[in-house]
Amino acid sequence: MPAAPDQLHRFVFEHANVRGELIQLDRTLQEVLARHQYPGVIIRVLGEALAAAGLLSSVLKFRGSLILQLQGEGTLPMLVASATHEQELRAVARHTEDAASIELDEPLNGMCKQGYLAITIDPTDSDDRYQGIVPLEAERLGEAVETYFTQSEQLPTRVWLACDGQQAAGLLMQRLPGDAGEDADAWNRAEHLAATITEGELLGLGPREIIGRLFHEEDIRLFEPEPVRFNCHCSRERVAAVLEGFGYEEAQGIVAEQGEIEAACEFCGATYRFDAVDVEQLFSGGSIDPPDNTQH
Ligand SMILES: [Zn+2]
Repeated sequence: MPAAPDQLHRFVFEHANVRGELIQLDRTLQEVLARHQYPGVIIRVLGEALAAAGLLSSVLKFRGSLILQLQGEGTLPMLVASATHEQELRAVARHTEDAASIELDEPLNGMCKQGYLAITIDPTDSDDRYQGIVPLEAERLGEAVETYFTQSEQLPTRVWLACDGQQAAGLLMQRLPGDAGEDADAWNRAEHLAATITEGELLGLGPREIIGRLFHEEDIRLFEPEPVRFNCHCSRERVAAVLEGFGYEEAQGIVAEQGEIEAACEFCGATYRFDAVDVEQLFSGGSIDPPDNTQH
């Protein structure tokens, strides 16, 4: 891994409507892996998903969270990776026990059968959630993300992802809308040159080396890197909002039975507790009125 991983690097082709992004993760992935015991094949997909979430949140400009979700049947029924516009990443996966005996290069569509890839954008300052869903037919996550862009964004986009169990990395190339400008062949070249990247290079070389190695004859502008880190944006307020969704009687029923409600965040392991007083306050405060509790 290069000397300064956990960064996102944006670059553009001068004089052409082509942009690229490169992300390399070390500590960010380690923080995710420290919270759960995952088999190797699951770590590979999880690392790739984390890199993809970082790339996508930077490409799809908005303030808020981007959630990349895999759902299906089989060894890997569920995986969620999310990234905020400030490049705070987190991820969690569910898997069956047989994942431990599966080859590291097992195709994704074999582990998550009849699956789909959903990309959700959840803006901070509005209720307008946007979700795009594509069937999961690809063997690798990078291809599935490319399908998403073709169908939902209609922008030619290529994505390469890699994870060796310790580190993860990703490269995204995109042709921007508008006139191809003076260099009509730029996207063609960019796509073909980028496709020569190996997983070893993506994980092992520094950003300048990668861009130099791929595009040494091109006129590239590389922007200041952005730091990337693990951070779970769960909060007591968010858990309380989920409890509100259960309804007063169910929440009160759990407290009556167990003394309190204990909810653990799957992403970071943080535990939130709500006792009888908390539940009363939750349902009496704000805009939610306590229901008439006539059933005894
Ligand atoms: Zn959390």
